[in-house]
Amino acid sequence: MLIEACEVVVTMDDAGTEIAGGSLLIENGAIAWVGTGAPPDADGAERIDGRGSVAIPGMVNTHHHLYQTVTRARALDQGLFGWLTELYPVWADVNEDWERAASRVGLAELALSGCSTTTDHHYVFPRGIEGLLEAEIDAARELGLRFHPCRGSMDLGQSAGGLPPDSVVQDTDAILAQTEETVRRYHDPEPGAMLRIAVAPCSPFSVTDRLMRESAELARRLGVRLHTHIAETTDEETYCIETFGRRPIELLEDQGWLGPEVWLAHCVHLDDKDVRRIAETGSGVAWCPSSNMRIGSGIAPARALLDAGATVGLGVDGSASNDVGDMLAEARQALLSARGVGGPGAMTIREALRVATRGGAACLGRDDIGSLEPGKRGDVALVGLDGLGFAGAEADPVAAILLCAPRAVRHLIVEGRQVVREGGLVNADEDDIAAEARRVGRRLVAEG
Ligand SMILES: [Zn+2]
Repeated sequence: MLIEACEVVVTMDDAGTEIAGGSLLIENGAIAWVGTGAPPDADGAERIDGRGSVAIPGMVNTHHHLYQTVTRARALDQGLFGWLTELYPVWADVNEDWERAASRVGLAELALSGCSTTTDHHYVFPRGIEGLLEAEIDAARELGLRFHPCRGSMDLGQSAGGLPPDSVVQDTDAILAQTEETVRRYHDPEPGAMLRIAVAPCSPFSVTDRLMRESAELARRLGVRLHTHIAETTDEETYCIETFGRRPIELLEDQGWLGPEVWLAHCVHLDDKDVRRIAETGSGVAWCPSSNMRIGSGIAPARALLDAGATVGLGVDGSASNDVGDMLAEARQALLSARGVGGPGAMTIREALRVATRGGAACLGRDDIGSLEPGKRGDVALVGLDGLGFAGAEADPVAAILLCAPRAVRHLIVEGRQVVREGGLVNADEDDIAAEARRVGRRLVAEG
C-alpha cells in the first residue's frame, strides 16, 4: 500500500521529524519506506491519496470499559463512588449480547477517531454468564483493530467491606484460574500481534490484597502486563489511608505493583514521591482527562510525570464516564487540561500527540507501533483537512488537528489493512452497530 503525498507525515520518531509532502509504503503489514518523491519499489501497490491529509501514527487508547457504552448518560452528577454505586446494579446484568453491542459501538468510534490499537478493561463477570471477553475480541477482529483486552476482576464485595455489591464479585481462586486460561488461549507475544491479554484486578476498594499480590505473580510468570485503577479520587485516597494505612501508590508498591510491566489508569492524586516512584520503576500511566473531569475527580499531574521521565499514555476511559470514545478529542482535552492547570507552557501540541501515540505504545510495552518509521507496523491515521472545521488553519496543519474541530479521520490503516475509508467503516455498517446498541440501551432503561 502506498499512501502518497500527504500534506504532512508526522513520524513521531525520536527527533519528532515531520515530512511535508511525505509518502509511506507499507508491505506485509509493516512500514517499508517513508519519504518524499517516489519510493524504491511500489509496483502494483494499492494507492491512497494523501493530499489534504495529515498522516499520524494510529493512536493507542490505554484505558476503556467497552461494556459501559450502552450505559451512557447515567449518574449525571456523581463523583466516582456515587457513580459506581448507582451503576454497579445496572452492570450486574451484563451478558454476551450486551457486550457485543457495546463493544462494536466503542470500537467503531475509536477507529473513526484515528485509534488503531485499544485496550479494554472488563471487570464485571456475573455468575453463570459466559462469552464476555470472547464477544469483545470478536468485535475487534470484525472491525480490524489491534486489541489488548485486560482480564479484570473484583473479589471484595460489600459484605467484606468493598464497594461493589456481592452479586458482581467472584471467588479469588476462580478469577486467577480463569485469567490464566484466558492468557493461554488468546495472548500473542509475537511482534505485530493483533491480540494481547493483560491481568487487571479492578481497584483497591473492590479487590482483596491477596488477589492483587497473586495477580502480579501470575502476570510475571506468564510474561504479560498488569493494569489497574489507582489514585483516581480523594475518596479512594481516604479509603486507602483508613483501610491500609498507606497512600494508594505506596499500597501498590507494597503489593508488587510498580514496574516496567505495569500501567495504571488515572493517577490523578499523586504527591511528589508518588510521581518519582512511578517514573523510577518504569511504570506507565493511562491519563484519562475527560473522564476525570466528567466525574469531577481532578486533573492528573501529567507535566510532573513527563518531567520525571514517566511513561504517559492517553485513555478515553469507559463510556459511562466520558461519554465518547474519541482519541483526537481526548488528545485535545489532554492538552487543554494540562494548560488549564499549568499555564500555556505546560504542554505543546506535539507533546499531546506524542502521548496519544508513542506514549500509549510504551504503556502497552510495544516498540512495534506508535511511530511511522521503517520496520514499525503499518498503523496510520490520515486526518483530512477539508470542511468548515479546518478552513483557515493553513498556518500549521499538524496543530490544527488538535486545535480545530476534532472529527472522523479520512482513513485508518491497521497492520496495512484499511479499517476506515473516506470517513466510514470498511468492515461493518455504522447504522447497524448503532441500532443494535440502541436496542440494548432501551431494554436497560425499560428494566430500570
Ligand atoms: Zn476505568
